[in-house]
Amino acid sequence: MISETTISTQQKKMIDWAKLRADFPILDQQVHGHPLVYLDNAASSQKPRAVIDCLSNYYEKDNANVHRGIHELSNRATAAFEASRQRVATFINAKTQDEIIFTRGTTEGINLIAASWGSKNIKAGDKILLTEMEHHSNIVPWQLLAEKTGAKLVYIPVTGDEGLLDLSKLDQLLTPEVKLFAFTHISNTLGTLNPVAELCERARKLGVTTLVDAAQSAGHLPLDVQSLGCDFLVFSGHKICGPTGIGVLWGRQEILDNMPPYHGGGEMIVTVDFFKSTFKKAPHRFEAGTPDISGVIALHAALDYLDAVGRENIFKHDQELATYCYDQLAQLKNVRLFGPKTGRAGLVSFLLEDVHAHDVVTVADQRGVALRGGHHCNQPLMKKLGIASTARASFYFYNTRAEVDRFIEVTREIQKFFG
Ligand code: PLP
Repeated sequence: MISETTISTQQKKMIDWAKLRADFPILDQQVHGHPLVYLDNAASSQKPRAVIDCLSNYYEKDNANVHRGIHELSNRATAAFEASRQRVATFINAKTQDEIIFTRGTTEGINLIAASWGSKNIKAGDKILLTEMEHHSNIVPWQLLAEKTGAKLVYIPVTGDEGLLDLSKLDQLLTPEVKLFAFTHISNTLGTLNPVAELCERARKLGVTTLVDAAQSAGHLPLDVQSLGCDFLVFSGHKICGPTGIGVLWGRQEILDNMPPYHGGGEMIVTVDFFKSTFKKAPHRFEAGTPDISGVIALHAALDYLDAVGRENIFKHDQELATYCYDQLAQLKNVRLFGPKTGRAGLVSFLLEDVHAHDVVTVADQRGVALRGGHHCNQPLMKKLGIASTARASFYFYNTRAEVDRFIEVTREIQKFFG
């Protein structure tokens, strides 16, 4: 539950964002003698009290293995586990909860699709279409599959520092030889927001299966898999106020039911004999072994929390902070900025002339500001842009304008320090 004083239904349009911070105990601390300014949300978000309490309540009151027990605790754990599946379905407007598979995160979701759907549907000569802004998790599994099958990877180019997809090349690249088009909703380095519904529609016309990496979007804007028109969508709990180690793979039921198992083991079978087994339908076919029960249950609390704030509100807030941050950085001398000037999602990547991104992040940390520096698991994109790394400030709804001001103040100090 979100704290009552923070938001009431009538107040939704006038949310006191600063007050929401009180729901996040971790934010109330000093780091190296300065108040913490946490701007590393694209890597992992912080957790509200409601999620932390949900985890400890589960272990204090209901902990037991799911699905296989007939005692009270197991029944409670199973009911809460399956209620979370239903909650996820509502969160992304899936047709049924059977389309929701719990994974360890975005990375595992993509690997599952590559190993299961890919091994059945991709063969030599087929093409897999990606974009130059993909995270390594949406590149490496396809490289592994391509090596096994003889398929070819093709990439939609990024326009340069401005960081848009060059859609003028789409007709040339999205052809009937493409069997899968997998792309990110929001770039974790550039902050670009891709036109998912339009891209899926173009793919659908050619019978191409689509996979949306929603790692950076799921907790930041409303998601409706039916209106997006994709075939698969994946995201991670830890980036959207939930625990680490839990994620979601959504797939169209008719596709999931025709996919072979990914991992074999307990819970995913109907019968096993010494030489042959039969398997359950989705989603259980893809959930072998004891799942991350507490993670699944606490993910439910995270989704409730986010929807109480309102994802439209979150998007607007994150975007305002990122735009403000971008504009402030643009006023400083010798700053190179990445990603679109307008319409960006809630993060900003930048470089200060003659200062390594790691030095920016290290000095910022000494002043209590948590940024991220490096290739952000986007090495091919970095190569394309002719750089090794960027520094990145990424926002969530508990961040404030005053924190952006503090970040800019620290950035000026860093420029002076290295100047
Ligand atoms: N895709 C994108 C766009 C990401 O930003 C990330 C994480 O930063 C991932 C995939 C991988 O997510 P996870 O490490 O939670 O599996």
